[in-house]
Amino acid sequence: MTNDETTTVLIVGGGYAGLTSSLFLSHLGVPSILVDKHPGFSIQGRARGITPRTMEIYRSIGMEAEMIEAGRPFADDKGGAYCETLAGEWGWLFPPEAATSFPDLTPSTFNLADQSAAEPVLSEAARKHGAVQHFNTELLTFTDDGDGVTAEVVDRADGQRRTIRADYLIAADGQRSPIRERLGIKRSGPGIVRHHLGCVFDADLSKYVKQRAILWFIRNEEIGGMFLTTTAEPGRWGMAVDYDPETETVDSFPDERCVAVIRGAVGDPELQVTVRDKQTWSQGVAVSDEYRRGRVFLVGDAAHVWSPAGGIGANTGVQDSYNLAWKLAAVSKGWAKPGLLDSYHPERHPLAEVLAELTEERQHNRINDPENDKADDLLWNFGQRYLSGAMIGADHDSVFGDSLDLRGQPGTRAPHLWVEQDGQLISTHDLFSRGFVLFTGAGGGAWTDAATHVCETEGIPLIGYRVGAEVELVDVDGAWPDRYRLGEDGAVLIRPDGYVAWRHEGPAGEPREALSGALRTILG
Ligand SMILES: Cc1cc2nc3c(=O)[nH]c(=O)nc-3n(C[C@H](O)[C@H](O)[C@H](O)COP(=O)(O)OP(=O)(O)OC[C@H]3O[C@@H](n4cnc5c(N)ncnc54)[C@H](O)[C@@H]3O)c2cc1C
Repeated sequence: MTNDETTTVLIVGGGYAGLTSSLFLSHLGVPSILVDKHPGFSIQGRARGITPRTMEIYRSIGMEAEMIEAGRPFADDKGGAYCETLAGEWGWLFPPEAATSFPDLTPSTFNLADQSAAEPVLSEAARKHGAVQHFNTELLTFTDDGDGVTAEVVDRADGQRRTIRADYLIAADGQRSPIRERLGIKRSGPGIVRHHLGCVFDADLSKYVKQRAILWFIRNEEIGGMFLTTTAEPGRWGMAVDYDPETETVDSFPDERCVAVIRGAVGDPELQVTVRDKQTWSQGVAVSDEYRRGRVFLVGDAAHVWSPAGGIGANTGVQDSYNLAWKLAAVSKGWAKPGLLDSYHPERHPLAEVLAELTEERQHNRINDPENDKADDLLWNFGQRYLSGAMIGADHDSVFGDSLDLRGQPGTRAPHLWVEQDGQLISTHDLFSRGFVLFTGAGGGAWTDAATHVCETEGIPLIGYRVGAEVELVDVDGAWPDRYRLGEDGAVLIRPDGYVAWRHEGPAGEPREALSGALRTILG
């Protein structure tokens, strides 16, 4: 059979996880085709908080400014409030003055931009870099024959069917994931735990919203409980209310009922409300038992779902994509062996299992006992540790330690450091994303020579930098020795996703052999 289109990676799903896969692959020069059955982007805001770690990833590919711009309409939204009605007294689940910037830890800050604002920006950036995206196009079926994947898709506008042949398939097809179901991959966890109706509406709430919050959790006898959120459009709001699927569907919520719920939540029985959109959403807590089957990889909600408390569901999907994209690039461009792809599951799956538990506990506390919400956001964001064959010398025994401990240990996120390069102040994280980076101290010239040699002779994208005074990267704060705990002539190797792959504590007799040997192990 001839195929109508061929590509390296077929991505099914144009939500957060699929769009960022499309973006990261295009950034790395890997051809991909994305298909999504919907004609375009939803106006439902859904996930809103973009964590500093995710912003740091966008920054490393030159997208930080665009994402900040996407969040401009949300710039005044601060803190999470709870109240009986919007018109009444508010308490704070998390305070408006909570820190959003952590300059010793990361060059990036927490950013708010809901999915309706962020997704079009991600899509456009990927397409600018050559990614192909077909909306209104549904995956019908696929086969993985061991050499590649053949997918049959249908254009929902005209009913035309065609095939796409790809080396790999990314299943970014959401919580219900038809691809996961077809592969028979089971999930662990309680499954669906809550059902929400999401509704977007227009109303003038200026009288009641004395200050914009990220969200309001509203609970009173009339409506039970609901969440209210801002949107990017002035005068437009989002709300989510629980419903019982045994007795109700989206049709059980005609506009009049939504309006009554909104009026009850605001505390104004006369409020003018226009309903713009309604969508049901089943909130699950479940983690796929396998993140990979053959040439198929699961990312985002297809791989894991959990409570929105902590706001890291969609962020984790972005980080799945980032973890996977460089590995697919390395294997498809021939500078890594296919074995590298085996590291995706052991790096991302244990993390999801832990987060599923932690976020559910946090959700419980936030609703029942907000004072008792002791979750450590910085640890959740920056303390995620990996154990796999794609690193050497990682010796931790859990995903998170007791507290954040980033000193350049293998399997941890590389520490951020402000350095001056050619007169410009940059973060070490600005150097990651395209290939490997080797850092050494001011006396480590033999290591940077070795990096150049290995790059030239083995075709592995790798650049070596000395860090210190009067070298390639000037350590402006004198923080290098403390952040990386390396002497003048040791070396630390960072993967394209900003994770430490290997370190050598001092000079090596044969730095080229040492570096080349380490990379051969890491790259499968
Ligand atoms: C109403 C609502 C409110 C939410 N609120 C929050 C929140 O406050 N905080 C939070 O963290 N998370 C929230 N979420 C969840 C958050 O949106 C998800 O975690 C995130 O969007 C997951 O992204 P994803 O790309 O993995 O999956 P999705 O965004 O679900 O994308 C999957 C895509 O796959 C496509 N697809 C599926 N099957 C096929 C097929 N056969 N062919 C082609 N395309 C297909 C779908 O059309 C869809 O666009 C909310 C979700 C909804 C729906």
